[in-house]
Amino acid sequence: MLFTKVLKASVRSVVRLQSTSPSTRPAGSHSGSTSPGYSFALTEQQKEFQQLARKFAREEILPAAPSYDKSGEYPIPIIKKAWELGLMNGHIPQEYGGMGLSIFDNCLITEELAYGCTGVQTAIEANSLGQMPVILAGNDAQKKKYLGRLVEEPLMCAYCVTEPGAGSDVAGIKTRAVKMGNEYIVNGQKMWITNGGKANWYFLLARTNPDPKCSASKAFTGFIVDADTPGIQPGRKELNMGQRCSDTRGITFEDVRIPVENVLIAEGAGFKIAMGAFDNTRPPVAAGATGLAQRALDEATKYALERKTFGKLIAEHQAVSFMLADMAMKVELARMAYQRAAWEVDQGHRNTYYASIAKAFAGDIANQVAADAVQIFGGNGFNSDYPVEKLMRDAKIYQIYEGTAQIRLIISRELLGRFQK
Ligand SMILES: Cc1cc2nc3c(=O)[nH]c(=O)nc-3n(C[C@H](O)[C@H](O)[C@H](O)COP(=O)(O)OP(=O)(O)OC[C@H]3O[C@@H](n4cnc5c(N)ncnc54)[C@H](O)[C@@H]3O)c2cc1C
Repeated sequence: MLFTKVLKASVRSVVRLQSTSPSTRPAGSHSGSTSPGYSFALTEQQKEFQQLARKFAREEILPAAPSYDKSGEYPIPIIKKAWELGLMNGHIPQEYGGMGLSIFDNCLITEELAYGCTGVQTAIEANSLGQMPVILAGNDAQKKKYLGRLVEEPLMCAYCVTEPGAGSDVAGIKTRAVKMGNEYIVNGQKMWITNGGKANWYFLLARTNPDPKCSASKAFTGFIVDADTPGIQPGRKELNMGQRCSDTRGITFEDVRIPVENVLIAEGAGFKIAMGAFDNTRPPVAAGATGLAQRALDEATKYALERKTFGKLIAEHQAVSFMLADMAMKVELARMAYQRAAWEVDQGHRNTYYASIAKAFAGDIANQVAADAVQIFGGNGFNSDYPVEKLMRDAKIYQIYEGTAQIRLIISRELLGRFQK
């Protein structure tokens, strides 16, 4: 209890400090106006955020993670505590009651939470994904109503775009919204929605222009939808390979009536809103993958300094120590990649290139590092009494959601575009 009070007081006071002392902000900070130059140093405030999140993850998330992994239960008590401590919904602007943290600051928190359990971190991060279209494109009334709710209570939201027939190919989604007077009537089927059964509201992408010749940038509309609207039916919780306590579901929309005031920007603006959110949310996804990889590296290092074969610690076998060195190189570079991507967007720069690089790289190395950790644990690595098999299962999704590993398409497009200008 005391721990909770101390942390809560600290988060609030850190935010107050940050909003009054722009001169103390580092390159990766929120103001976007001035950059003090090239620096790897975190400010005192950022170190505090990081420490708060680290303490919470190691004391509250990490010990509970194996049991949540086995039961698949949604981690409500942890989410409530994270909410109380200000460790979620950090992006919500201060004028709507939030903390208005930068993407960089949120990434620092995300990496730490992921170290504890990426199932918990994904449940929390899905709120950022769901709310990002509203932060970027919502009007004042929409922000007050829907972001305000998340500040007032520990509620969840979700980003509702993927369908059974279209994931990577977002322009292939079939859910239809038809305007009738002051409402849109929505019919369709969404799939793989994180927080699908737990959300209080959804960001929904639906097709409003049925003409197949209409370009993606005009054919889709983004809506905010209350989850208790009649006609919305979440499916069963999916049984996934990893991150099992996170809630993933299909959702059916049958004659769902959405008032026009819940349209984001205007009819036809949805595709850009849905895609634009990723520049802000891919750096945190990369930070989550980095947190998982750091955990795998730490577990493997500890084990290599305890386990003996042939009369010496396995860390003293060059093959094992070089494996640890390779793992460390990957973790350090993934961290730099997400921090660069976060810094770029916080400065107001277009960061699609850096965000895609960070996401693809961190997703890949999380899988490599977790698999190497299993290898270093030998037979024990294959067993669920040891932590690393969960890390290997949990890592896989980082190559799939928010842009599969084939996000390289975006990186190559951006790269070639620079040469072809
Ligand atoms: C646990 C989980 C949580 C998720 N959470 C959400 C969520 O909250 N909201 C949401 O909207 N969605 C969510 N998703 C959906 C996720 O974003 C999609 O699964 C992902 O985008 C891939 O789409 P797909 O599954 O349809 O695969 P497909 O698009 O069918 O791809 C299949 C394979 O083909 C490859 N591929 C596809 N197109 C190309 C191409 N042009 N060139 C080369 N290779 C290609 C892909 O990389 C992949 O390997 C989640 C998924 C999972 C599993």
